[in-house]
Amino acid sequence: MRVLVVEDEPDLNRLLTKTLTREGYAVDACLRGDDVADYLRLAQYDAVVLDVLLPGQSGLEVLRGMRGRGDRTPVLLLTALDGISDRVKGLDAGADDYLVKPFSFDELLARLRVLLRRGTGGAATNQASVADLTVDFDAHRVTRGGEVISLTSREFAVLECLVRNAGKVLTRDRIGQSIWNYDYEGESNVVDVYIRCLRKKLDDGRTPKLIHTVRGTGYVLEERS
Ligand code: CA
Repeated sequence: MRVLVVEDEPDLNRLLTKTLTREGYAVDACLRGDDVADYLRLAQYDAVVLDVLLPGQSGLEVLRGMRGRGDRTPVLLLTALDGISDRVKGLDAGADDYLVKPFSFDELLARLRVLLRRGTGGAATNQASVADLTVDFDAHRVTRGGEVISLTSREFAVLECLVRNAGKVLTRDRIGQSIWNYDYEGESNVVDVYIRCLRKKLDDGRTPKLIHTVRGTGYVLEERS
């Protein structure tokens, strides 16, 4: 799998390249928006990790150019924490997914795996199941035991983070980063509030319980026997 990383901050570019290379991807690193078209002409990529704020040409212009040429290469957009309109524009311009900076590399790798699976037609639907809980990430549809559970967008974002990392203990910080436009500093209990809402909707009156507290650390979603 070949990935193009487009990021003008040299340290982040290096770190992205190193991380992806370590995961077994073939990686090309590009620092400017107006160089992307050349890279895409010279090699066949399975995915592009594309920053929005770039010299030469913005990530959004790059993306529109690609889609305008009929290039359907999956694109994972990297957006700023306060750039809500960038994210909306990015999805409108044809991005397949986005990550808000700062992001965790685990999440980047997970999102990328999903994009690549979709790109190769591996999985028909983008969904995950734990016990009788099923989450459809495209349709934002959640069911437990076949019953549809209605969630707010932020509850869904928190659940998505837990489900994509099922079985892994996540810190409140890590979960907090999954919520859009969310200023985590000094508001650490906000994550607890969302977890409480999710438990009420997903776990109350049902077995097995899926959301577990890991004292002093955070939360984990898993089926425990
Ligand atoms: Ca940038």
